[in-house]
Amino acid sequence: MYSQFPKDAVVVQKYGGTSVGNAERIKNVAARIARQVKAGHSRLAVVVSARSGETNRLVEMVNEVNPQASGKAYDMAVAAGEQVSVALMAAALEAQGVKARPFNAYNLGIYTDDLHSKARIQHINTKPIEDGWKDGAVAVVAGFQGITPEMELTTLGRGGSDTSAVALAVALKAAFCEINTDVDGVFTADPRIVKDARLIKDLDYEVAFEMASLGSKVLHPRCVELGAKFKMPLTVRNTFTPDDHQRTRVMPFNEADSIEALVVAGVTLDRNVAKITISGLAKESQVISDIFQKLGTLGVNVDIIVHDKPSTDQTMRVGFSVAKTDLDAAGRAIGKLIEEKKYAGVTVSTESGLAKVSAVGVGMRSYAGVAGRTFAALTGHGIGINMISTSEIKISVVVDEKDADKATQVLHAEFIK
Ligand code: ADP
Ligand code: ASP
Ligand code: MG
Repeated sequence: MYSQFPKDAVVVQKYGGTSVGNAERIKNVAARIARQVKAGHSRLAVVVSARSGETNRLVEMVNEVNPQASGKAYDMAVAAGEQVSVALMAAALEAQGVKARPFNAYNLGIYTDDLHSKARIQHINTKPIEDGWKDGAVAVVAGFQGITPEMELTTLGRGGSDTSAVALAVALKAAFCEINTDVDGVFTADPRIVKDARLIKDLDYEVAFEMASLGSKVLHPRCVELGAKFKMPLTVRNTFTPDDHQRTRVMPFNEADSIEALVVAGVTLDRNVAKITISGLAKESQVISDIFQKLGTLGVNVDIIVHDKPSTDQTMRVGFSVAKTDLDAAGRAIGKLIEEKKYAGVTVSTESGLAKVSAVGVGMRSYAGVAGRTFAALTGHGIGINMISTSEIKISVVVDEKDADKATQVLHAEFIK
């Protein structure tokens, strides 16, 4: 990859949690960067995540003192892991004789909106990095973090360091953005769940985005969206293998024709799924629109919606899925709304312990049998389907969490191998 570009090409590399998980691994990454610097690459920016397990530990610490914590204090706590990684990576580079400048979001200027824990990057000040390059220094930048124009710390959502890297690559007009992780690239399913999943060498942005949004956590959805919007080439590779090892390249569709032939390119699993059901609704009721508007203002995304009429009475019932991590906030907001507006006869129930399994592929556009095969394969293996939704290029089913791995394996076997 590097040999195709001049030595002064700008390259952004991102290293995820496992890649910087302990001292040995940090030194290993620093050695790779040092080799590149010594080979003459002069404009490198490195984005790092918190060490694996660290962000979870910080989330638990906040929850111990306030299970409902959110907003500024929450983000300030959970962003701390990236600060440590940046400092350690810069120190490790210095130990290898490479100049490094460490940056948190606030001392670089990674500006976001103020939607805490789901913030979106709006602008990045690249001057300190470019000044560092003139001085021969590699920039080491904290992923996941941002600041509002009022200098409040924000975070980009779990897994958001990928997005930090691609946003930085766009801001720096990089030749490409390299996502270094603990697998060889994007596979046809999570290789930890489906043992014979295959590496997808060339992946279209559209399929990559759909897979990321539907739970394949190797890429953060927003990073693919940004990559597609700004035509930033993305490479996903394994930190722990040699540079010439296999990898995934994410690119526009016409360059990734090999995928076109496949009806289903990948099967994804999202365990972060819960369901809210609102019952007792009169036919012309405003309740659902009030509720969806309220959830929208809280940044809670409503996913699959089912609308039906229980046979027992004349009322309607609406069920919808939300992220499990949004369930408490959504439940509280809906409860408050019902109390304030005094909706008569309306009841709310919630269900967690669910998961969403999806089959994704642009080939579905011209292939009609996917829904039937999905139903047949799952029910044939005794897996019950709770909710279902389809679009031109995906089919998603909500199943019990206990069936999640099995459902992923069954759909992979049905459509891919
Ligand atoms: P990092 O810490 O490097 O950001 P993540 O844990 O966020 O890494 O993402 C990598 C993990 O994503 C892999 O270890 C793998 O288990 C999981 N994963 C889920 N779906 C896929 C897929 N389709 N292809 C590759 N990895 C996947
Ligand atoms: N450290 C953050 C997380 O665990 C961001 C990331 O790893 O991308 O979600
Ligand atoms: Mg990640």
